[in-house]
Amino acid sequence: MVSRVIPVDPFDLVIFGGTGDLARRKILPGLFRRFTAGQMPGDARVIGAARSELDDDGFRKMISDAISEFIPKDERDPKDVKAFLEHLHYVAIDARGTDGWNALGKLMRKDVVHAFYFSVSPNLFGDLAERLHEHKIIGADCRIVVEKPFGRDLASARSLNDTLAKHFNEDQIYRIDHYLGKETVQNLMAVRFGNILFEPLWNAQYIDHVQITVAETVGVGGRGEYYDKSGAMRDMVQNHLMQLLCLTAMEPPAKFDPDAVRDEKLKVIRALDPVPHDDIVRGQYGGADGQPSYKEDAENSSSTTESFIAMKIHIANWRWNGTPFYLRTGKRMRNQVSEIAVRFKEPPHSIFDEDAGTNANELTIRLQPNEGMDLRVTIKEPGPGGMRLIEVPLDMTFADALEQNGSDVPDAYERLIMDVIRGNQTLFMRGDEVEAAWAWTDPLIESWKERGDKPKPYDPGTAGPEDALMLLHRDGRRWREIKP
Ligand code: NAP
Repeated sequence: MVSRVIPVDPFDLVIFGGTGDLARRKILPGLFRRFTAGQMPGDARVIGAARSELDDDGFRKMISDAISEFIPKDERDPKDVKAFLEHLHYVAIDARGTDGWNALGKLMRKDVVHAFYFSVSPNLFGDLAERLHEHKIIGADCRIVVEKPFGRDLASARSLNDTLAKHFNEDQIYRIDHYLGKETVQNLMAVRFGNILFEPLWNAQYIDHVQITVAETVGVGGRGEYYDKSGAMRDMVQNHLMQLLCLTAMEPPAKFDPDAVRDEKLKVIRALDPVPHDDIVRGQYGGADGQPSYKEDAENSSSTTESFIAMKIHIANWRWNGTPFYLRTGKRMRNQVSEIAVRFKEPPHSIFDEDAGTNANELTIRLQPNEGMDLRVTIKEPGPGGMRLIEVPLDMTFADALEQNGSDVPDAYERLIMDVIRGNQTLFMRGDEVEAAWAWTDPLIESWKERGDKPKPYDPGTAGPEDALMLLHRDGRRWREIKP
């Protein structure tokens, strides 16, 4: 089944930081894929803007190279690449200077959607907003896209929100969390609210606990210096894992519309209990097999930054009272896995003999690898020998179920950029949501700093430190295995 493509309105999309890593690796290859899918209107324009002295041809050459590097050969027909490159333009601009702004103003057409992607360091957001305003390039209908990290604590997030609010209304600001653009994450909402099956059971009465895992095999090499100032809590939990938690735990919104969905997510964040320090395990990977340790990657021999974190979270509301949510995320782990596993309670009474065994249902939503869902159900073990119960998976890998190949499933960035052009903010974070997430995160970070807490070492290629296993063992539970 090939996905249905609905073309968007004509647009001028300016990418500040158009020569940067994110633009070359994700944004422009993503736009190329939307172009080949037929979603980009014939007169759409993508304008790269950065300080590098390039002209249109120089920028096109750079993006042509990026497409060759980041899009598999069988998904890029040279004719398509050539046609796509014609949509690209470039303006040399310094966010902190005056050159280039008039040229950009002249390039922008009237009566098309205007979007400005701030793919630059957040300390330039204010300058960009100010320059755009001074040169009268922005109007009430334009949109801006801002990247993570959105602050490093509540104070800096507030300050960023205030900076942007000087020139943009909240309904013009698209804060990206690319996890929200993933097909499966949206499917989580479709599964919860598009079926009668799960919602009646989606509460503490029937759900024993929830596990959210985002495990990466890579270390922090390459961006060690940046990561060392951040750590897993700021880099992953405050944004990506928090979003997954919210979508799993939120009440049904009245409509699938931006504010209805975001209001419900916000209520979840505000209902999070503070986490006692016994319920948080921080870890840091060591070195092995010639691979550097975290401290070597970060070039900081005394670093106490966590490359792994596991925690037990309580949501203080009627729906979830008594159902813990266990979160974990880490680098250099056994496999690359992102999933949400909802473990139901066992049936209240077994009609079978004791030897038949009992099982609990489990619904797993896989973000990667093999985006899809898996529902474990109990059946009778086939064959003679009486009634013995076993668990079997009802597995739905989306690509198989929908007869898609990988290239039919849009990458998160592709979807989100098209949502910006459509003016749909549902899958973007609202300012108050981001602030609420920091307001919950800040005291946890403060508290381990005050205690001088050091992360526990763990071997690369494992499931993290031993203490993380104990976090569940002491509750009589087990983490799901991190398998490919
Ligand atoms: P990057 O590779 O360092 O690129 C920065 C871009 O900003 C370059 O195009 C640079 O071009 C431009 N720039 C720097 N100073 C400028 C100035 N004064 N005026 C105008 N342009 C300027 O960074 P990146 O990795 O692409 O990241 C961009 C943003 O996305 C950051 O906020 C980052 O946190 C976020 N992000 C990145 C990733 C990723 O995978 N890379 C993932 C998530 C979020 P010139 O030097 O030519 O000016």
